[in-house]
Order: sequence, then C-alpha cells, then structure tokens
Amino acid sequence: AGAVSEGMAGMGFLYTNKESVSIGIGCIVSDFAESGKSPYQLLEKFKMHPSIRPLLEGSEVKEYAAHLIPEGGFKAVPQLFGDGWVVVGDAAQLNNAVHREGSNLAMTSGRLAAEAIFQVRSRREPMTAENLSLYEKMINDSFVMKDLKKYKDMPALLHTQSQNLFLTYPQLVSTAMENFLRVDGVPKIDKERATVSAMKAKRGWTGLVGDAVRVARAWR
Ligand SMILES: Cc1cc2nc3c(=O)[nH]c(=O)nc-3n(C[C@H](O)[C@H](O)[C@H](O)COP(=O)(O)OP(=O)(O)OC[C@H]3O[C@@H](n4cnc5c(N)ncnc54)[C@H](O)[C@@H]3O)c2cc1C
Repeated sequence: AGAVSEGMAGMGFLYTNKESVSIGIGCIVSDFAESGKSPYQLLEKFKMHPSIRPLLEGSEVKEYAAHLIPEGGFKAVPQLFGDGWVVVGDAAQLNNAVHREGSNLAMTSGRLAAEAIFQVRSRREPMTAENLSLYEKMINDSFVMKDLKKYKDMPALLHTQSQNLFLTYPQLVSTAMENFLRVDGVPKIDKERATVSAMKAKRGWTGLVGDAVRVARAWR
C-alpha cells in the first residue's frame, strides 16, 4: 500500500494461482483524476518492484483487464427495487471495501432477490415496487447491509486520510518493525526512542490521537 499507489488510497496485489500469477493495482478513480497519474504507469512501476519482477521474468501475458469496484459503501447504495426490477451485486454498490469483499455480497444479494421474486410469484401477485420491497427487507436483515452499515463512514475516511493511512502509517510501521527486529548492537532504548520520534515527526501527538479517534469512530 502507499508506495505502490504513490500515496493515493490503494494497493498492489499479487495472487498466486496454480500455473500463473495475477498482479494488479487498485486505487480510487477520483484520486487518479485529481493526481493526473495513470493506472498503467503505476502497474508498470509495480511490475519493476524487486519482489514482483523476478516472478514475471520470462512470463507472457494471458489476460489483461480494467474493472471498476464500486466502493462507495452504505451511503452510496441506490434504490434497490422498483416496478418490475431489482438491483444486486456491484450494480447496487454492494461492496465491502474494508474486508475486500464483493463476490459474496453479489451472490447473496442475487439469491435474496431470487427468493423475494419467487415468493411474490408464488402468491400470484404482480412484480410491483411494493411487492418487491420484500427484497430490501431481506437484504437489510442479512450480513450484506449489516456489514455495509457498520463501515458506513470508512469510504470517506479512506479517501480523505489516504496519504496517512496508505503512506505515512505503513512507512512508520515498517520503520518500527525494523527497529524492533534488527540486531545491530544499538541499545533497544535508542531504537524505541527513534521509533517514537519518527511517529512524532510525521504526525505529532495531536495527529496521532486524532487519527486513532477517526479510525475508531468509523470502525464502530
Ligand atoms: C481486481 C479485483 C479484485 C477483486 N477481489 C475480490 C476478492 O478478493 N474478493 C471478493 O469478494 N471480491 C473481489 N472483487 C469484487 C468482485 O469481483 C465483484 O464484487 C463481483 O464480481 C461482483 O459481481 P457482479 O455479478 O455484481 O458483477 P460482475 O462480476 O461485474 O458481473 C457483471 C457481468 O455483467 C456483464 N455485463 C455488463 N453490462 C452488460 C450488458 N449491458 N449486457 C450483458 N451483460 C453485461 C459483465 O460483462 C459482467 O460479466 C474484486 C474485483 C476486482 C476488479
């Protein structure tokens, strides 16, 4: 995170499959627009990363795609039903950006929509908005909406605090772990002080406490 996305909210990923690897980067579209960076530049840079490059040596591209993940969360979910229609999955913004889940929300919303439609049809009633509102009731009672509601403030936080959450803190954690684990004859007390002053220098005490409160509030 952070370095790969050059400070924007986002990250690089590497999936190891049986006979291939899938690599990619994901960032917020508006961040691309504001920063003027291009996804292709970031992907090319990611491919040159010392941890990724050896895995791609001598390989050939089997598939290449760009896809939008709607991560607006609870506050971005549109009207889910109407006269003769219901909307499910990504089209309904059913994506949990915190836990990186979308497939299970798409499958569950699809199943619930089908069950609602089946119930209306079994009663031999028309597919009116009133009757199809059953789907909304079912989805509200499921983990889908409960999870999205739990993280309703996270999408905005990930966006407004992207520099800190995706660049500053990962770097601080990396420095802290290096100080903690490196064996080099420097007394531990000096390493602890170096870690604390790095945190103070980057965010200050007010910033650190403010960030903790903001994340805790959005996480509730
Ligand atoms: C890089 C990446 C990594 C991801 N990783 C994860 C993960 O680890 N775990 C997870 O749970 N989720 C993950 N997701 C999210 C997950 O893939 C989606 O949330 C999920 O696929 C949504 O399913 P869906 O059926 O709603 O939409 P989609 O899978 O997008 O299916 C919609 C289909 O409709 C087709 N279509 C579009 N327009 C038309 C049209 N006019 N006529 C006919 N067909 C049309 C499209 O071609 C597509 O096949 C990831 C997504 C991406 C992009």
